[in-house]
This record gives sequence, structure tokens and C-alpha cells, in this order.
Amino acid sequence: MGVGLPPLDRSTLWPFEGGEPAEFYYQRYAHPTGVAAERALGELDGGEALLFSSGAGASTAVVLALLEPGDTIAVAEGCYYGTTTLFRELERWGLNHVEFDQTQAPPDGVQLVWLEAPSNPFLTMPDFDAAAVHPAPVLVDATAATPVHLRPLEQGADLVLHSATKYLSGHSDVLLGAVIARDEERVARLREFRGRSGIVAAPDAAWLLLRGLKTLELRVRRQTETAKELAARLEGHPRVTTVRYAGFGGLLSFDVAGGADAAHDVETSTRLITNATSLGGVESTMESRHRWEGDRVPVNLLRLSVGLEDVDELWADLEQALST
Ligand code: PLP
Repeated sequence: MGVGLPPLDRSTLWPFEGGEPAEFYYQRYAHPTGVAAERALGELDGGEALLFSSGAGASTAVVLALLEPGDTIAVAEGCYYGTTTLFRELERWGLNHVEFDQTQAPPDGVQLVWLEAPSNPFLTMPDFDAAAVHPAPVLVDATAATPVHLRPLEQGADLVLHSATKYLSGHSDVLLGAVIARDEERVARLREFRGRSGIVAAPDAAWLLLRGLKTLELRVRRQTETAKELAARLEGHPRVTTVRYAGFGGLLSFDVAGGADAAHDVETSTRLITNATSLGGVESTMESRHRWEGDRVPVNLLRLSVGLEDVDELWADLEQALST
């Protein structure tokens, strides 16, 4: 085999060996590219990784496979909006959730603690020590941190979740989710549920993840460097009232003085930064989150996902947009 990526095997089935299914027999249960990508990601996060069709698919699998009707999830307030809307969707199946301030201890009487590090788009960090002593299993959605900056299993978490659509794949061309855990029973249960539910990652997606992981550290370190600098410059800008940045990673958010119309003018005036949703790609993107999340987000909040462009060019673009 060459020094590049393993071959992409799109087969949905493989011949039995000696009349019996071998390691690979039907793609929904496992496929070689997926297993290779899971091995690579598992090493990065220090556990066993399972891929899913998207980050939201991974979240769905975790709660449906590991919880029971009547159970309650304590979920970090201000975390990715789609996670709480998913939990709301599952209320009619008897799954409850309560939101809590993740910078404090999680509430008692819950069966799963769901943290996000850092939260999207508020950029708060959880109190890992307080969560680690909670009796319920702790999941950390580390999408915005990536294993370059954070390995939650080493901080007492039981499960790590990524929207691998974002930084891990890194090029805005694949939808993918991942869960990483150490407890064998949990991994086995999730694997079983994944195979039954079909919330699986395709070989092409797994292959793109493998390619993305080759440059993950380089990309994320550069994005961190640039985001740090932009956060500092935004802090000093007269038209910016609040800057939220966790101190690492490529994601930040800021409030534009003057309200919703002013923020709208800014997000539609950038030339280098694309006015689009999502995050974690090599191209910078920026958008108002109020359009999706409503009043839980300030009307003038813009979320910026910093890409690999030159920092001074990005700043020049932000400055000209802020002067509109
Ligand atoms: N978790 C976080 C922190 C996210 O930002 C997202 C998507 O934006 C998700 C999970 C869901 O991931 P996906 O879009 O891959 O389903």
C-alpha cells in the first residue's frame, strides 16, 4: 500500500469465508474505510470511536441507545441549538431534558449530563471537575475544540461527541458524526443500535474524514492563532459591544452595536468571509444566529468560524464590513 490513504471500498457486501460472515459482510454493520477512520479518530481522542451519518445522528443514537423513556438529560444551556431541538423532538417518546449552566455543577436526578466545549455560539466552557463527580454518565460535545485542544475522556467524561462535519473533516464537503468512549458495554450498545437503526457513515464520508485528519492539527492550530488575533482586534473595535472566545479554537462570536439591522449589514457586507452557516471549514464563514435560534441569542450576535485565510486580510474584511 502507498503512503496515502487506504483504498476506498464502496462495497455493500463481502463474500462469506468458509460459509460464515467474516469481519466485513454487510456495509450497515461495518466497512473497511469506516473502521480505518474510527481507528484514527479513536487514537486522537483516547478511546474507541464510532462513526454516524452526521453529528445530529450521533446525538440521536446516544440518547436512544443509552437512555430509557422517562430519563432526563441535563443539557448545557446555550449549546448547539440543534441538540436541544432534537431533545424537544424526542420528548414525545418520553425523553426529558433540563437546561443548566455548564460552568456550574449539573443538577441532581438526571441520567445523562450533556456538556459542550466550548458551547456554540456562546463559547462557554464546562466545569469538568463538577461534572466528573456527578453520578450520571457525562458526554462532551467537543466539536468546536477538537482533540487538538481537548481530550474530554482524560477529564473524566464518559463519552465524546463530534460533528465531524466541522473541523475533523475540515473542508465543508462531508456530513459526519462520531462518538468516542472507553466503556466496552457502552460502545457495544451504540454499535448495535447503529447497525439496527442504520444511522451509519458511508465509506466516502469516512474516507474524507481520514484525509481531513491528516491536516487537522495544522489547520486547527492556524485557525486558533488567527481567531485569537481577530478576537483581540474585535475587542478594541468601537462598533463591537461583546466578544465571546474560549481562548482556543477557530470559533468566536461578537455583538454589533446598533442591533439587528446593523448586524445584518455587517454579515452581508463581507467579501472574503462567506455569509453562510456551519463552521470548521478552511474558508471563513459568518452568520447571525438569531435567524435560527430566536430570542435565546442576541439579535446582533454574529458567529464567525475562522478559516485558513491570512489574518490581516480577514481583519481588513471585518473592518470594512463593520464600517458599513
Ligand atoms: N454539535 C455541534 C456543536 C454543532 O455545531 C453541530 C452542527 O452545527 C452538531 C453537533 C450537529 O452536527 P451535524 O450538522 O453534523 O449533524
